[in-house]
Amino acid sequence: MQHSRKLFERALAVIPGGVNSPVRAFGAVGGQPPFIAEAHGARLRDVDGTDYIDYVCSWGAVILGHAAPTVVQAVQAAAARGLSYGAPTGAEVELAETLCRLVPGMAQVRLVNSGTEATMSAIRLARAATGRKLLVKFAGCYHGHADSLLVNAGSGALTFGVPSSPGVPPELAALTLSAPYNDLAAVEALFAQRGADIAAVIVEPVAGNMGCVLPQPGFLQGLRRACDAHGALLIFDEVMTGFRVALGGAQARFGVTADLVTLGKVIGGGLPVGAYGGRADLMAQMAPAGPVYQAGTLSGNPLATAAGLATLALVQQPGFYERLEATAAALTAGLQAAADAAGVPFSTVHVGGMFGFFLRDTAPRDLAEAQQADVARFGRLFRALLGEGLNFAPSAFEAGFVTAAHDAATIEATIARARRAFAAA
Ligand SMILES: *Cc1c(COP(=O)(O)O)cnc(C)c1O
Repeated sequence: MQHSRKLFERALAVIPGGVNSPVRAFGAVGGQPPFIAEAHGARLRDVDGTDYIDYVCSWGAVILGHAAPTVVQAVQAAAARGLSYGAPTGAEVELAETLCRLVPGMAQVRLVNSGTEATMSAIRLARAATGRKLLVKFAGCYHGHADSLLVNAGSGALTFGVPSSPGVPPELAALTLSAPYNDLAAVEALFAQRGADIAAVIVEPVAGNMGCVLPQPGFLQGLRRACDAHGALLIFDEVMTGFRVALGGAQARFGVTADLVTLGKVIGGGLPVGAYGGRADLMAQMAPAGPVYQAGTLSGNPLATAAGLATLALVQQPGFYERLEATAAALTAGLQAAADAAGVPFSTVHVGGMFGFFLRDTAPRDLAEAQQADVARFGRLFRALLGEGLNFAPSAFEAGFVTAAHDAATIEATIARARRAFAAA
């Protein structure tokens, strides 16, 4: 860890907390983060030459495996033609056509540079279209770091115990109502009290930022009904689940169509991309077609677009998601067996190429249950797993991810190492 340690020291002097996104700092699990030198397939190598099997995978953005050859070649070819033009390109049209073809209900889509931008823009559009101000979100769901969404938020905000951030004006936070995840009655109650003022309900259709929490049967359908009954819009934040839980995302998987959908992570194949889209009448309100303003100097960037197109080309191959899901199932079953052998209370969930594990007997259904996690014990297990060369998310409140590069041998090696880690921790 010598080279990583030196880099972290230098980083701490010039970058707040030494990192450019909070969870990377290992604050919740102790120890210091390895600094990464390169990554190929399912493996990361740090600057000290240590290899890890990776289950973070750029927080789900990487779905084909690191440095997937066709993606790297597409980006190299695009780079040789210029890095950014600030003018329209054919590749953007092709990516938008691909998204509109594959994502249910997506008549039009706008490309942006991050998931945060996507959710922020979708909310502006929802407020403009309904003429209403209030937003309903769920405790433990993370939708990026825009002001209105840093209320009872998940991910790093949850990991570091600041689910609502200083700097978010109380007047703005007051426009965001929150309900427990999977609690339809709470949503109905909010609509009963303030239904005429609620512009939209935004939800992670599978929550991935308080650990991985599945929607209970009927939850997403119930949200659809409640929004329709009160003239509010339903926004699925599929920045994580889009092209991760199924081709077409959670809408396709669970058979519920939202009014607006946000995307990110996988559709950029590892480059900075986000997107929001949905109903034609709503998207027609975005500038320059309509009055709702949103713009971006680098939006539709040629490198990011090339990476996205190359990635989406491969995930459309027959059997891609079946194989990904079988990999996640084999991994979680193996981790469960390793935990059982060590007598550790443990549970897992998996959906598509996304999974979660919990140091408790049943998987949580909402934030309150997720927060019962023994974080000290999680930290010990995390450090033991990392010591065995297994890179899981450095927080009890994040999901894990597999890629097409996680083959059977990789999963077997993971389980053998996990058995040692569980026994040690
Ligand atoms: C990652 C994530 C975001 C934020 O995306 P960034 O690209 O980090 O801004 C928003 N919503 C969900 C569900 C996410 O998982």
